Amino acid sequence: MDLTFSPEQEVFRAEARAWLTAHVPADPLPSFDTEQGFEAHRRWERTMYDDRWSVVSWPTQYGGRDLGIFEWLIFEEEYYRARAPKRVSQNGIFLLGPTMLEYGTDAQKERFLAPMAAGDEIWCQGWSEPDAGSDLAGIRSRAARSEAGDTWILNGQKTWASRGAFAEWCFGIFRTDPDAERHRGLTYFLIAMDSPGVTVRPIPQLDGETGFAEIFFDNVEVPEDQVLGEVGGGWSVAMATAGSERGLSLRSPARYTEVADRLVQLFASRGGPPASADAVALAHMHAEAYKLHTYWTASKVARGHAVGAEASANKIFWSETDVAIHTTALDLLGTDAELLTAGAPGEWLDGYLFSLAGPIYAGTNEIQRNVVAERLLGLPRS
Ligand SMILES: Cc1cc2nc3c(=O)[nH]c(=O)nc-3n(C[C@H](O)[C@H](O)[C@H](O)COP(=O)(O)OP(=O)(O)OC[C@H]3O[C@@H](n4cnc5c(N)ncnc54)[C@H](O)[C@@H]3O)c2cc1C
Repeated sequence: MDLTFSPEQEVFRAEARAWLTAHVPADPLPSFDTEQGFEAHRRWERTMYDDRWSVVSWPTQYGGRDLGIFEWLIFEEEYYRARAPKRVSQNGIFLLGPTMLEYGTDAQKERFLAPMAAGDEIWCQGWSEPDAGSDLAGIRSRAARSEAGDTWILNGQKTWASRGAFAEWCFGIFRTDPDAERHRGLTYFLIAMDSPGVTVRPIPQLDGETGFAEIFFDNVEVPEDQVLGEVGGGWSVAMATAGSERGLSLRSPARYTEVADRLVQLFASRGGPPASADAVALAHMHAEAYKLHTYWTASKVARGHAVGAEASANKIFWSETDVAIHTTALDLLGTDAELLTAGAPGEWLDGYLFSLAGPIYAGTNEIQRNVVAERLLGLPRS
């Protein structure tokens, strides 16, 4: 495999780097899990969109540049290198967007993709329920056709919706056929959060920020044209979203190579016991391995293949790499790691705490190991 980028791709990289150098805010934005920070991040999304950097691989009609997956990876490398703000639109542009491009009607793409890319409409993911997280097919929230038959009436409760406290839209899975086999009776809905009957209850995290929300649906009416994919076909649509979440678009390798590079710098500047050198080198190698593996996956996708169940192995690797990098950094920092300061070392502690969520969100690593065992290795079901 030739890992050299073409001259055109290098020109694109230089253009992206120049734009980011000129536009990335000098001071970090406030956390997007606060109301003020959420709006500041939304403005950043709009700045990117206006110069068509928000979704480079999307069709131009939805605000993209019609570029390939490798250009997207290059852009991500430059984005993390520039230490640009976190993407408050990530649920939309990285999860729902690719799913809508695959399953959406032309009218849905026309209506939703550009506002999603511009940050004008920010999406949350309404999948988990109080009694259905890992067992997603066990959800109980339901949708039934209205008496007139032209709309759907949604009832139930979702939880752990990241950015759900502030988002304008939600993509959620609801049971539309209680008699069908668990995976077959589900449908994927696009729901305006200001619809009558939607109640949002923010969930404060340990740090006091509202990173999550519970969402209650009480006879919420949703038009027929806000079903994504087939009625009853929600599981397949959801698995396409999960493929993006675990496999490719949510966590690009640049996110890890940039932190691994900073880890090397930390070790170079502070030193540490010899065992730390091994841990630093290993963390760096893992981040590089993830990058190379992603290039391989991207080549497959560029040739028209789906990511498939390999996304689960991928998810285990990126989440465990993130924990390893941050644990090593805290070891190097020693007692300084406890300083909750802005910038380093507080940044390492913040990153460490978030890394601990990696083995949980996007489907826990225990569940991903089950998928790897059963679907990739063909082992018997446990
Ligand atoms: C930072 C973060 C962001 C999130 N954002 C969202 C979001 O935006 N939208 C959303 O819908 N959800 C979100 N979630 C929720 C997340 O998807 C769930 O927490 C996750 O799927 C696990 O579900 P649960 O919490 O109900 O745990 P449970 O399913 O109750 O699992 C508890 C434990 O049992 C283990 N377990 C369960 N079943 C099995 C099995 N069959 N074999 C082996 N082990 C098993 C699990 O691995 C886990 O360790 C988020 C979670 C986090 C941490």
